[in-house]
Order: sequence, then C-alpha cells, then structure tokens
Amino acid sequence: PTMAHSKALLVLENFIGGKFVPCSSYIDSYNPSTGDVYCRVPDSGKEEVEAAVKAAKDAFPIWSSKSPLERSQILNKLADLIEHDLEAFAQAESKDQGKTITFARTVDIPRAVQNFRFFASSILHHVTECTEMPTMGCVHYTSRAPVGIAGLISPWNLPLYLLTWKIAPAIACGNTVVAKPSEMTSVTAWMMCKLLEKAGVPPGVVNVVFGTGAKAGEALVCHPDVPLISFTGSTLTAQRITEKSAPHCKRLSLELGGKNPAIVFDDADLSQCIPTTVRSSFANQGEICLCTSRIFVQRGIYSEFLKRFVAEAKKWKTGNPSDPTIDVGALISKEHLEKVRNYVKKAQAEGARVLCGEGVDPLALPPGNQKGYFMLPTVIAEVKDESCCMQEEIFGPVTCVVAFDTEEEVIRRANGVKYGLAATVWSGNVGRVHRVAHRLQSGLVWTNCWLVRDLNLPFGGMKASGIGREGAKDSYEFFTEVKTITIKH
Ligand code: NAD
Repeated sequence: PTMAHSKALLVLENFIGGKFVPCSSYIDSYNPSTGDVYCRVPDSGKEEVEAAVKAAKDAFPIWSSKSPLERSQILNKLADLIEHDLEAFAQAESKDQGKTITFARTVDIPRAVQNFRFFASSILHHVTECTEMPTMGCVHYTSRAPVGIAGLISPWNLPLYLLTWKIAPAIACGNTVVAKPSEMTSVTAWMMCKLLEKAGVPPGVVNVVFGTGAKAGEALVCHPDVPLISFTGSTLTAQRITEKSAPHCKRLSLELGGKNPAIVFDDADLSQCIPTTVRSSFANQGEICLCTSRIFVQRGIYSEFLKRFVAEAKKWKTGNPSDPTIDVGALISKEHLEKVRNYVKKAQAEGARVLCGEGVDPLALPPGNQKGYFMLPTVIAEVKDESCCMQEEIFGPVTCVVAFDTEEEVIRRANGVKYGLAATVWSGNVGRVHRVAHRLQSGLVWTNCWLVRDLNLPFGGMKASGIGREGAKDSYEFFTEVKTITIKH
C-alpha cells in the first residue's frame, strides 16, 4: 500500500504488561461488507507470546491474592466502561465481522458487558465442600485456588462476546490471562484493552496477543508455563490443540462446532416455531455454533411448514450491515462464502431442491457493497441424511428441511451426526418434549424456544462438539485447582 493508503488503515498493537506494543509484521484484515482491507493486525509468534506469558506470570502473585470482592469490583467497572462505549464497540464489531449493526448492538456487546457482570457476581457466591468423619476425628474440606496463566483462544463469529465469556471467569477466579482472538476479528478485543487500566485491571493481568492460529495460537498452546487452554472454534483446530498440548498434560476446555437439529412435531405451535426457526437458522448469517441447520418436520405438516418457512425466510433482508433494517449481513471472508456456496451446489448436484436464496433469488446490493461477501438465506429440501449438507457444519445462512414419521425415527436421525451441541424440539406435548430431550445427544436442548440462556447453567457440547462445560459453576471449576485438606482434631 502507498503511504497515504496505509495511513488510513487501522493498525492494531499487542497489549502486553499493560502497554500497547507494536509488532514486526502484520496481517491484513478485511471489511467483509466491502471486501476492502481496512485494518492491520499484528502477526505475532513465539517471541510476542513469550513476552505476554512473562507479563502474566509477573502479575499473577498480586492478582491471585486479591479478594474475590476486589476482583469483582474491577470486573464491574470494566463492564460499565464497555457499556458506556456500547455504540462504538457495536459499530466496530459490525465492520470487522460483517454482522448487522442491530445484532452487534443487541446481542454481541450487551452480552460482553453481561459476561463481566455475571462473573463479577457469581464469584462471590461459591462455597467449597466440607465433610466430617467423627470416628476418625477428622474434618475434610476443599479449597480452590487459581490455576495460573490461562491461555484463551476465540473464534471470529461472536468476537468480543466469546472472548469475554473466557476472560471474565478466568480473571474473576484470580488467574492472569494471555488471550488470542481470531486474526479475522481482532478490533473489539484491542478496544477493550484500552479500557483495562481505567477499570483498575493491573498491568499483566490481561494480555492480548494478535495473530494467526498457526503462529500465535500454537505458540500459546505449546508454552510450558500456560497450564490451561480454553478454546472455542472448530473441531479440526481442537484436535490439533489437543495433540500439541498433550506433552504438557494441559487442562483443556473445548467448545466446538455443531450440526444442530430442530425437530418439529405435528402438534407444534407453528406461529411460534416458524419465525423462531428462521431466526435460529439465519441469525448472524448462520454463523453461530448454535444455529439450526437440519430441520426435521413431521410428515403431516411438512408441506405447510415448508411453504410458511420459505415465505418467512424470504422476508429476511440481506445487505449493508450498517443499515439497521437489514437482517443478514456479510459472511466473514471470501473463502468462507465460497465454502458455504459450494455446499448448496453439492446439494443441488445430489438432487435436493433449493427453495429460496442462493442461485434461486436475485441478490441486489447497494453500490458500496458489491464486493462484499453476501449470500441470501437459503432453504434446501429433500436432502439425504448422508449428504455432506446434513452431516458437516456449514456455518452459513443455509438450512435443510426434511420430513420424518415417528418419534423413534427422528431421534435416531437427529443423533446420526458426529456433533452434539444444541437441539430444538417443537411440540405441545409435555411428555414427548421431556422424552425426546432426554434421548437427544446434545449438550443443550431448547424446547419451544431457541437461544434462551441462563449463564448459571452448563454450556457446551457432546461428541465432536466439545469437551467440558462453561457456566457459573463449571467455569469456576475449570479455572481453579481444587485441593482436599484433612484436619485431625
Ligand atoms: P477456528 O478453529 O478456525 O479458529 C478458532 C481460533 O483458533 C482462532 O483464534 C484461530 O486463530 C485459532 N487457531 C487456529 N488454528 C490454531 C492452532 N493450530 N493452534 C491454536 N489456535 C489455533 O474456528 P473459526 O473458524 O474461527 O470459528 C468457527 C468455528 O467455531 C465453528 O466450527 C463454530 O461452530 C465454532 N464455534 C463454537 C462455539 C461453541 O461454543 N461451541 C461458539 C462459536 C463458534
């Protein structure tokens, strides 16, 4: 780029030991809604990770010895500061990720604020266990202490939302942190770093190293002084992380992909089910690990469902993410858009029917967005269960609708994938709802709703969707080391 051009770019710096530090090389980051490079992200490697780990190590004694109440007050202050800048954060998240400004304003940033408030509160309410053994004259109790330096690696789909879901519990428990956000969506993490000092977070407690997974991510995973890795991302990357961390016996929390079914029985309230299932399929361009991508509809209502579902999906407007009336923004990258489009092509080649969206309806974009990575919400019917469209995570605005006959059959088919993250069941029959929920291989089951979350309760997946759970108690257990102490009196 020319000097004038590079001056206009936003240039991020690593945040290490409470200071912004430039890096020797940088990666281009694109605005997905225009296709332009607008930001440069440090291309960190071993050296930068080493510096960040050292800063985290130096900060650990002071931070870990603070009382939960002191840490809680700091987390609340940070939440207030992010909330104060909510609009700026939302604008940045939308520009960096391609998501609609409405989604960033109402979901991403409010949830990042809530993550800090939630753990600021929950950390005050944990109690450890105690048992008595009178015949031996003993009491036993457990004590919990922070583990040390937490390595946190997050994906590009909900950038600040998922990163803070890790940072908040990690530091609330007294750990110090080295975080590596996705190289494709680093801006809001960098903005958050600017608020840490004002919030009272001591230097070195939260360090952020920007860069690719292969270089910066792997350096963090392989660092011998980082005993714990919390990772959210794809199943493939998780396998690599597991392999690389095995020689160090690291503690891992893995939140991975999904291929989430929605099961619609013939007694479902379709006036609730249809708009919610359109939302669960296409919210955030379908780029949420919890998005529905296989919809099983009981045969008696199949054609009516399809007709109404397609009509509802067509109401979703795709376009400039900064326009508040838009429902579907841009996908994260050109490569990802190609990958998602290819799934639709494969389904067509296999004889499935594309009912709306990609390749069927025209996509009109404003002049400034012609080179953006857009795609219409796409509904595919009559896809075979063994098709890659029904087996693999697509992670875009594509959903498959198929018919089923019996409860037994649909449970088997819904469970017939390698993933097990989230499922949705629609039925007015309370007995059936419980029965099906119990038999689905899925870390989360929503019935007659979607994405209603209580952060107190465990979040995470089964099978290839993950290992471990996060939530009030689960995150506390993951981010602390427990000791059993026996006292004889
Ligand atoms: P990804 O696995 O490509 O990347 C995730 C993060 O890991 C990024 O920061 C990346 O730089 C880093 N990374 C990549 N290779 C690495 C390596 N070898 N060592 C260390 N770090 C490495 O995933 P993505 O494409 O950014 O995100 C999409 C995926 O995330 C989807 O599969 C989605 O389902 C999943 N996801 C899961 C959840 C959940 O809670 N279960 C939530 C959101 C997204």
